[in-house]
Order: sequence, then structure tokens, then C-alpha cells
Amino acid sequence: MIYADNAATTKMSELALKRFVEVASNEFGNPSSLYSIGQSAKDVLENARADVASVINADPREIIFTSGGSEADNQAIISAAKLGEKNGKKHIISTAFEHHAVLHTLEKLKKEGFEITLLDVHSNGIVTADEVEAAIKDETCLVTIMFANNEIGTIQPIREIGAVCRKHNVLFHTDAVQAIGHLPIDVQEYNIDMLSSSGHKFHGPKGTGFLYAKKGIRLTNLIEGGAQEKGKRAGTENVPGIAAMAEALKAAVANIPQHNDSLRAKRDRLIEGLLQIPHSALNGDRDSRLPGNVNFCFEGIEGESLLLLLDDKGISASSGSACTSGSLDPSHVLLAIGRVHDVAHGSLRLSIEDDITNEDIEYIIRSVREVVEYLRGFSPIWRDLVAGKKQFIL
Ligand SMILES: *Cc1c(COP(=O)(O)O)cnc(C)c1O
Repeated sequence: MIYADNAATTKMSELALKRFVEVASNEFGNPSSLYSIGQSAKDVLENARADVASVINADPREIIFTSGGSEADNQAIISAAKLGEKNGKKHIISTAFEHHAVLHTLEKLKKEGFEITLLDVHSNGIVTADEVEAAIKDETCLVTIMFANNEIGTIQPIREIGAVCRKHNVLFHTDAVQAIGHLPIDVQEYNIDMLSSSGHKFHGPKGTGFLYAKKGIRLTNLIEGGAQEKGKRAGTENVPGIAAMAEALKAAVANIPQHNDSLRAKRDRLIEGLLQIPHSALNGDRDSRLPGNVNFCFEGIEGESLLLLLDDKGISASSGSACTSGSLDPSHVLLAIGRVHDVAHGSLRLSIEDDITNEDIEYIIRSVREVVEYLRGFSPIWRDLVAGKKQFIL
């Protein structure tokens, strides 16, 4: 089995798993209880908060633990919208290729009378700070732009966008789910006001995550109840999950430079190999991309069939995001970078981690080549392309 879908989820690291079991076994107290076993669980929680905060150069008091990236995105955006509304500011800027946790929250706010500007993304999968600045108006209460895209892996100019938002005094939220653990992030240096993160994307457990919200930003509760998380997120905390997430995050950021160099070399070999397939193209910028992301379009085939046949060969991959698979619509991300429907349908995302071997990479290249050729063999679209009845795009 070759697992090449780490953008969908990752395997828990040994360290995180060990920490999970240790805390679940020994720290079963409720962190809100005043007796010592409760306080001991509370210490575990607060140590995890300090660890997570230090990774992004935040204060522990600025971290709210959530059930994952989706919840953090929802809470950040809704909080900023409520704050804006109070001041008569009901305009939000985002991009067309955000995760659905962001896009669907924005759609909901649109129905409540907010004006939403979704910036176009360039064909290289990047938006510029100038474009953000041009879209800002007096009524803008929030800019929300992802750190790195989950499908095509492109990294956005977050530092520049943060500077523009600061200059115009507009709140800046970034969905950093794909970036954290892979790229160094400093919320102060980048002028990030709010940031979303998810444990299961960096070898922590599923159902864990956090929202960073800069001191002074008044959060809106999504869940009412007890006074956990400074009264901003009710419900008894997932202590073992949170402790394991912090463990996974510390390990992930411990050696980002070495890890990324090695991973990038494997990614680049994979890109080189797949570019040899005729009428194929890499989606997203070659350089400003996550070290483990490869995303291709192959003309004349369906991504879904490609995935199933790769699965038969022992390779787990994706045709876009896990959230859109199962639907017949092509990926909104690929449409946003200007791929036409026919081409966008034939997409493949391989998101690798450094444990993949060079032999695995060569096996993937061979397998994709074989499967693409096989599928083109009976594709009516491919027949029309070869016969000249249709124009090749790639
Ligand atoms: C996975 C992902 C999410 C959702 O995170 P969950 O923890 O699964 O809710 C949000 N944004 C991006 C960019 C993601 O990749």
C-alpha cells in the first residue's frame, strides 16, 4: 500500500498515539473539576495550549481548542462578521478556491445580508496582496484567505496580505490547515489576526484542532454551555486528543527545513515523471507550493476511474478534495484557476509525506502512466481529440 492522500488526512504519528493512550489512561479527570485529578488533566490541557501557541508565536490565551479546521473556520468568520455588523461593516473578502468550510460559511452570511467578494485566482493558483488591497473598502470587516490550498498546494503571499490588512485596519483570518506543520508560521510577523488549524492534517488525531484569535478579538460562540475555553467553546475538552495534537505538532515543526528539502526532492521527481505523460499539466505554481503536493490534469480521462484503477494497484490518491469526491461536479479549485470542465474532470492529487520511498515514487509514475494510457484507450473524448474533431487544450 502506498498512501498518497495526506492532504485528506494523515496517519497518527507513533509519538502522538503514545501520548493519546497515556493521557486517556492516566488523565481521565475533568479539567473543570477542582480536585487534584481534575487539576492534573487541566495541566495537561494548558501545557498543550502553551506548546501549540509557541509554534505560531502566539500567547496561550489566544488559543481556543476546537473539533478541527471546519469549526475553527466557522467560528473565526462568524465572529468577524458579528463584530463588523456592529460597526455597520458588512463586506468580506475571500477567494474562489477556499475550503468549503469557508465558502459555505460565507454563503450563509450572504443570505444574512453580507456582501462577499470572492477574488479570482490566477492560473498559477495564487492571489496577490495588490488584488486584496484593491478589493478593500470602508465596509470591509474581514479578509479570509487560506495559507496553502488543499487541492493544488499553492502557497499564498500571506505576509504581504497581512500587511495590507493591517494598513487598512481590516481583520485577517487564514485557514492554515494545510500549511501548519509544513511551513513556519509566525502570526505576529505575518499580521495574522485569526488562524485555523486541524490536528489530523499533521499526524495528530481526527476531531482535534484549534483557532488562534489575537487578544482583544471578541469571539462568537458556536456551542453554548459550560465555561470551557474561556467561555468561548462549551463542552468538556478532548484532553487526550488535544495532548496528542500538541505532541504531533511539536514533532512536525521540529525539523521543517530538513524534512521539506527531502520531501521536495521526491515531489519534484514525481512532477517530472508525470509531465512525461502526453497532454498532461501540473496544476498550480511549481515553486510556491507545499513540499508534498502534486496535482495534475490528464486530458481525455475521468479522475474517478483513474483513482479506482490506482487503488487496484495499491495507491491511495484523490481527484481533488475528499469533500467533493462522490459528486460529479469538477473541483471548484480547478475551475477557479481556469481549467475548463473537460480538463478539470481528469485530475489527480498525490499528497505525499517523507516516509515515501524513491521506489514508491517510481512505482506511482509507472502506474499513473499505464492507467492513463489504458483509460484513454476507450475514452470517446480522447478518440475525438486524436481524430482532430476536438482541440487539445493541454
Ligand atoms: C481538512 C481541511 C479543513 C477541515 O478540517 P477538519 O479538521 O477536517 O474539519 C479545512 N480547511 C482546509 C484547507 C483543509 O484542508
